[in-house]
Amino acid sequence: MPQTRCYYEILSVEKTASQEDIKRAYRRQAMKWHPDRNPGNPEAEAEFKACAEAYEVLSDAERRQLYDRHGHAGLRQNPVHDFRTRDVADIFSMFNDIFGQQAGGGRRAAARGFDLETEVEIELEEAFTGCEREVEFKRLDVCEPCGGTGAKPGSKPAQCPTCGGQGQVAQTGFGGMFRMVTTCPECRGRRNVVKDKCEKCRGQGRVSTKRKLGVRIPNGISDGQVIRLSGEGEPTPPEVSPEGKGPRGDLHVVVRVSEHERFVERRGADLVAVQPMAFAQAALGAQVSFEGIDGEPVEFEIPAGSQHGEVVVVERAGMTELQSKERGDLHVVLQLVVPKKLTDEQRKLLAEYAQTERVEVRGGEQSFWKKINPFGG
Ligand SMILES: [Zn+2]
Ligand SMILES: [Zn+2]
Repeated sequence: MPQTRCYYEILSVEKTASQEDIKRAYRRQAMKWHPDRNPGNPEAEAEFKACAEAYEVLSDAERRQLYDRHGHAGLRQNPVHDFRTRDVADIFSMFNDIFGQQAGGGRRAAARGFDLETEVEIELEEAFTGCEREVEFKRLDVCEPCGGTGAKPGSKPAQCPTCGGQGQVAQTGFGGMFRMVTTCPECRGRRNVVKDKCEKCRGQGRVSTKRKLGVRIPNGISDGQVIRLSGEGEPTPPEVSPEGKGPRGDLHVVVRVSEHERFVERRGADLVAVQPMAFAQAALGAQVSFEGIDGEPVEFEIPAGSQHGEVVVVERAGMTELQSKERGDLHVVLQLVVPKKLTDEQRKLLAEYAQTERVEVRGGEQSFWKKINPFGG
């Protein structure tokens, strides 16, 4: 078993994560540790490969179950690839369904730049009205001094002598039984090599830059929904176009809606809230007011004879529908609250009331405790 670390930790996901969460986490981690984005950092490459392994296990329902039950030992009968010996470009082509055509690297290099992903957290009130947010993220951009070639200004890159400018090399194994084409180890698929390196990008042709963008989040958005900002991702990979010609990737902004203290649940555009209800209100009925998600009071009636846990539906007092003025309903769950302390008068009245109901209650003990503890209730 190549890895001994916890696969969930490697991808930074919860054990309860859905397949979609795992896929997203893998994409994010793989982009973070991608060797092209961490030049000269062997730890990043090792982490990149560890992520591929973790994903291979957790994305497969059967393997994941075995791993959940027996840990790494559970995978002995169903082993995963040892990614440590694999080429980065090969890993990308293995998980092509995730990275799509944008992954770059060697033979799968595509004209489009990488997509990037970032997260933004908003309050439920902001999801109700829609809001603007500034997101800050890092991306690789074409290095300006060298124009993306990686060569010191004034010099030019030369054709790679190892692959003859092909970007890939062929290897034969088992006496010529199979032929494998891999990314050229010298130029890493870029077809040429740089002798005099540009100082700013150290020959990479790309530099990491910080970017801030305003994002408009529409009203009615749900937790986990993604806003795509097209053309805000990375430029075309250098092995395809050093100057970054061709379309940039996109930026995916994953919107997280925070949990709300009073609106404890959201079901589509409907909201669920809990309303405390005194015994007298439950028995006699009452008109109550509740602060709505729009900040305005919501008036509704607790019907006489309401029971604990019953639900009152207030129509059109829920969330807005996505990009619409239509609203869902508010479901108010009534919660009977029994007072923990009573005044003498309340106790007397309740005891009298109990008599009318002909039920047995404690009365005498309370006055006994009062005698020995004058500060107690
Ligand atoms: Zn080469
Ligand atoms: Zn440069």
